[in-house]
Amino acid sequence: MTKTKVCKVCGVEKPLERFVKQWRNTSGVLSVCLDCYYARAKAGYEKLSEEEKERRRLERNAYQRKLRTPEYAQEMERKRAERGLRAEALELSRAERTARKNLREEKAAKRAERALQIEAAVALYPALDRWQAVKKYDYETNPAHREHRDEVRRAQQRRHDKNNPEKRREKEKRKRERNPERFLEKNRRYAARRKARLLAEKSSPLTPEE
Ligand SMILES: [Zn+2]
Repeated sequence: MTKTKVCKVCGVEKPLERFVKQWRNTSGVLSVCLDCYYARAKAGYEKLSEEEKERRRLERNAYQRKLRTPEYAQEMERKRAERGLRAEALELSRAERTARKNLREEKAAKRAERALQIEAAVALYPALDRWQAVKKYDYETNPAHREHRDEVRRAQQRRHDKNNPEKRREKEKRKRERNPERFLEKNRRYAARRKARLLAEKSSPLTPEE
């Protein structure tokens, strides 16, 4: 489907390629169609004096000669490249603006969502301070957050145990004293597993591979 546009001079709808090109515009054309543009230029020319027409004819001829020189071709090539770069930069800045806008909207949506969560947390745990309520709410409702917090806590505990071997031994001792049955049971299970493993190794000794 070819895009069309209504000329603001003659009011006729025509395809875009029948309009005067203008790369700065988003649509790439002016709002005047080529026919009207040429008609206006021609009418303007007819109004000129004979001397002026002659002057312009000479000027046009000089220009035509200039068009055929290699310097002119080079200059045009340079200008075309420049124009391409400018258009590219414009396109980039447009894309950047859109990206920034999307990011802003995304952040606003996230903030709004968070505000709702905080409201819910405060309503859910009225006895707690606001930040404590939010912390608890996150822990209870967000599995990823809970996983993370638990892992952080386990890491802290491991570090603490490593740095305080005395305390760790005491803690284990207290645990054993609190529930000796459980530890005995654990030891029995371990011994049974060990025995079974040793027996299995003895009954089927590893044969060297052939
Ligand atoms: Zn027109």
